[in-house]
Amino acid sequence: MYGTIRVELSSERKAKPSVDTGLAFGKYFTDHMFMMNYSEGSGWHDPRIVPYAPITLDPSAMVFHYGQAIFEGLKAYRSPDKSSVYLFRPDKNAARLNQSCERLSMPSIDEAFFVEALQSLVRIDADWIPESEGTSLYIRPFIISTEAGLGVRPSSEYLFAVIMSPVGSYYEEGIHPVAIHVETHYTRAAVGGMGYAKAAGNYAGSLKAQMLAKEYNCSQVLWLDAAEKKYLEEVGSMNVFFKLGGEIVTPKLNGSILDGVTRNSVMQLLASWGMPVTERRISMDEIAAAFANGTLEEAFGTGTAAVISPIGSLHWNDQTMSINVGQTGPLTERLYNTLTGIQNGKIEDPFGWNVRC
Ligand SMILES: *Cc1c(COP(=O)(O)O)cnc(C)c1O
Repeated sequence: MYGTIRVELSSERKAKPSVDTGLAFGKYFTDHMFMMNYSEGSGWHDPRIVPYAPITLDPSAMVFHYGQAIFEGLKAYRSPDKSSVYLFRPDKNAARLNQSCERLSMPSIDEAFFVEALQSLVRIDADWIPESEGTSLYIRPFIISTEAGLGVRPSSEYLFAVIMSPVGSYYEEGIHPVAIHVETHYTRAAVGGMGYAKAAGNYAGSLKAQMLAKEYNCSQVLWLDAAEKKYLEEVGSMNVFFKLGGEIVTPKLNGSILDGVTRNSVMQLLASWGMPVTERRISMDEIAAAFANGTLEEAFGTGTAAVISPIGSLHWNDQTMSINVGQTGPLTERLYNTLTGIQNGKIEDPFGWNVRC
């Protein structure tokens, strides 16, 4: 597609972090990285796997000034017998990467090639995939604009890179629900903006509210829609689901919500269990009413890092709404066990989600 992937192996291998120390998220990186450059005229070229190392950019590189930067996140898992390695639904990340590219006027990447690049890199650094229960290798593909110059327009040069980091189990001490601050002033994304793209800038804009939530002793922010501050969008950098009087609901994708792979997987799983999810608008008033009449049964966030993250309470203006007495609900727990079971190969994968490296 873009030429064969050139491989330059590292002459030195780094010491691997001990899994017993908890493996802080995204702190340790493997020995190699994937890189490929784009320039107008040549298109994507020189795909290569090289030793993990700092990169050099001109100080006027457009990414520093106008923020054309997007990323993806997915995990590689080792099978229980340790003999094989799987990526979880990498085709979904490939498709979403290109949606993000389109939104930020960046050049797309062939989706089959994207998956091939990931597979090649994982194979080379396979000994970095931790083996113990619940661990995995987090894969971070990203694209940045690299053309030197301050003119405001889409860059004519880009770098696509993939780095990888071994991660421990998200729930070292077991899965436990978290307190969520409903943010009524700051917003993450607006319809017409780039909320549906996995753009670095969306994260930059979310940090302040995240810090405020911490001050209120909450671990994440629940984002409301930018126009009316009435309707739920996402929780932190996760999609959000509720069980309200037996109905399972999640906010309908509207352009400001990111289309999560975990969200999609949860919806497919629930449908296969005869529990279809309704995608629709959900207002905070509706959640408060459900809390008042005792039908706010369960709530959880979904995303690659934590997979399923139960919500124990919502803090909205002066109101505190406890959910399932702050315990992980039965449906939340079943989803967590099934999805992580499929991912780490302990449960059969009826959907064909796991892709062998
Ligand atoms: C990445 C991300 C998610 C979760 O997507 P997954 O594909 O499930 O990991 C949700 N919301 C935002 C804003 C994200 O950036």
